[in-house]
Amino acid sequence: MDFTLSKEQELIQKMARDFAEQQLEPLAEQIEKENAVPDHILKGLAELDLFGLAMPEEYGGAGAGYESYVLAMEQIARVSCGPAVIISAHSLGLGAINKFGTDEQKRKYMPPACRGEHICSFAFTEPGTGSDPKQITTVAVKDGDSYVINGTKRFITNSNYPGPMVTFARDSETGHPTAFIVEKFCPGYSVSEPWDKLGWHGGPLCDVYLQDVRVPAANVLGVMGNGYPVLQHGIAYGKIGMNGVALGTCLAAYEEGVRYAKEKLHRGTPIAKFQAIQLRVAELAMRYEASRWLAYRLGCLANTATPAGDFEKEAALSKVVIAENAAAAARIAIDIHGSYGIMNDYKVARLYRDAVMGPQVEGVIDMQKIIVAASILR
Ligand SMILES: Cc1cc2nc3c(=O)[nH]c(=O)nc-3n(C[C@H](O)[C@H](O)[C@H](O)COP(=O)(O)OP(=O)(O)OC[C@H]3O[C@@H](n4cnc5c(N)ncnc54)[C@H](O)[C@@H]3O)c2cc1C
Repeated sequence: MDFTLSKEQELIQKMARDFAEQQLEPLAEQIEKENAVPDHILKGLAELDLFGLAMPEEYGGAGAGYESYVLAMEQIARVSCGPAVIISAHSLGLGAINKFGTDEQKRKYMPPACRGEHICSFAFTEPGTGSDPKQITTVAVKDGDSYVINGTKRFITNSNYPGPMVTFARDSETGHPTAFIVEKFCPGYSVSEPWDKLGWHGGPLCDVYLQDVRVPAANVLGVMGNGYPVLQHGIAYGKIGMNGVALGTCLAAYEEGVRYAKEKLHRGTPIAKFQAIQLRVAELAMRYEASRWLAYRLGCLANTATPAGDFEKEAALSKVVIAENAAAAARIAIDIHGSYGIMNDYKVARLYRDAVMGPQVEGVIDMQKIIVAASILR
């Protein structure tokens, strides 16, 4: 067991931190207010290989492994969640293509996505369901050599950017969910106005309308009628990115809490002298440390995951702890700030809005606990 980062991992962590502090920090409030990430920031992230960091070099990725990916995501999200959420949802779709795609599909879709020229999406949720694949109503009807897809997908991150979208629809042959690669903005594809979310501003979220979208049979991802493993695997790997986002928020809350405790004076001395504040500082450190090692560990496990290793359970377990720790840490940091903490001029208010997003997304907390318990009790 070795908890030290390799030279390469340290380098990737530093590269992401430098970019976040130098390029992103000056724009963090703008991203918050405008709910959009400037194109040059996405380009900068692409130049750092962050759109394909964990993907194999053979298909245009950097081959740096999932543990490097989580290290980079933490540093980006520490400064601004929007760009990190874009990369996380992109990596979820891209990871599914990497795992289940044919060689032809990977050669076609992965290199431009790894270069950040295309941004991937993963479309499962519908107005009627976000947790239950049995309830999806989007349909794919076989017509010659292609499938015609109709339905509405709700809350789809990155759906306003061109690129491949892994889309779940009930196919007409098996009657079960199947995963298809849909090229966004093909004929019949349209999106709603972006949702006005509480947090993660800059991470674009729209509904997707699929009206007679024609997809070649060659774009079936994985096995017909067997979309469930694509979904399960996809969202388990997606949690590596989600963990990175929550971890970065947790770190920022920790740093803001400590900074304010040292700066704010009462009768001429910092409030850090109060034991009540010290207990909160300790709590911040504890929550961050616990989250950090779980997040990094999941990145390591992802590189070598086997079905016997029960990666889905590990991913679900880590997501619960890390997302809830981020929400708790943001709340503690607000408490340290007193009333200033709930003023929008203060960074902790933004951190709180960001932190409460994680528990609700890519599988709500209760569903994650059900996955963990099912694995233990089977
Ligand atoms: C910012 C953001 C980004 C998103 N990005 C994407 C995306 O890119 N792609 C995508 O497909 N979706 C995306 N989503 C959707 C998100 O993943 C789902 O909304 C989420 O999984 C929860 O689904 P739901 O809202 O339908 O909740 P529901 O499934 O309706 O759950 C509501 C409540 O019921 C409980 N519940 C549900 N089923 C059970 C059960 N069987 N047993 C016990 N309790 C249960 C849940 O725990 C929860 O408390 C995004 C959402 C947000 C907010």
